[in-house]
Amino acid sequence: MNWITNYVRPRINSIFSRRETPENLWSKCDECGTMLFHRELSDNLNVCTNCGHHMAMTPRARFSALFDNGTYTEVKVPEPLADPLKFRDQKRYPDRMKAARAATSESEAMLVAEGEMGRTPIVAAAQDFSFMGGSMGMYVGNAIVAAAERAVKLRRPLILFSAAGGARMQEGILSLMQMPRTTVAVQMLKEAGLPYIVVLTHPTTGGVTASYAMLGDVHIAEPNALICFAGPRVIEQTIREKLPEGFQRAEYLLDHGMLDRVTPRAQLREELIAITRMLLRLSPPVSGDLPAPTAGMEPAAEAETAGATPAAATATTPGATPGAAPAAEPAPKAVGSTAAPPKA
Ligand SMILES: [Zn+2]
Repeated sequence: MNWITNYVRPRINSIFSRRETPENLWSKCDECGTMLFHRELSDNLNVCTNCGHHMAMTPRARFSALFDNGTYTEVKVPEPLADPLKFRDQKRYPDRMKAARAATSESEAMLVAEGEMGRTPIVAAAQDFSFMGGSMGMYVGNAIVAAAERAVKLRRPLILFSAAGGARMQEGILSLMQMPRTTVAVQMLKEAGLPYIVVLTHPTTGGVTASYAMLGDVHIAEPNALICFAGPRVIEQTIREKLPEGFQRAEYLLDHGMLDRVTPRAQLREELIAITRMLLRLSPPVSGDLPAPTAGMEPAAEAETAGATPAAATATTPGATPGAAPAAEPAPKAVGSTAAPPKA
């Protein structure tokens, strides 16, 4: 019996545990410590099912969740000069880049894509915090310029997801120059009259907050995201004062007028669709698949609701109530105008 419990059982257990539970199947919530099954976690958009903590999300996962059917086309970003300063700290900069590329399977800290979101054509850019802290170097600058140029060319809005520890120190002054550069890129969008929406995710700090992340027409943050220029620890040491609870977190910034919205990730897509369509003066979003239009009905709703807010649109078209039989609905556009705006 001793031999079985001490030798055989551990051997059998180790064989089975090795096969059935590789480490990457479970992740631990940083906030409440719950072990979360990977599929459950990704289905819930990397939000803890226990406490609602929003974990980091890669640009690819974000785009899959954002675009219709998860389909999008990547926008090519011009490659900048690699390591112009021949920078070295404990490691050479090219070695750090190689390690980051191997760890993330991405070439750099920002991904740009175009596609449709709620049947609204958009250009989107997302920063990758797992790639060297999402730091803003020349590539990120190039990516934002490329995204803005693409948006202007196609006359589409730009939606940007920020996540960064700040400027990339290994590129010195060249990384800081991305602040005015990206500001000019955002200005290009404004001059073209196109909406620029920023979704600030945890954490958005440093030079990124001092440039493109704070220049949006609408600023939405994810719950409890840290958004700041200098971090709370640095400020506390400088002013020698205790900072208030929740300082520089999304909810605090919303209360103090720095943000327009704090939106949980599960509602983000719906909200982005509603806001973009509102800013583009399109009819409110169409929800769900619609029946084929029947002949002999006039698509009049579009003209009267164009430019109106969703609330006004629902109020002005009482004729086509949601209670009417789906088969009798006039046209997709008219049905769309009756859809209620998503609640915050
Ligand atoms: Zn949790």
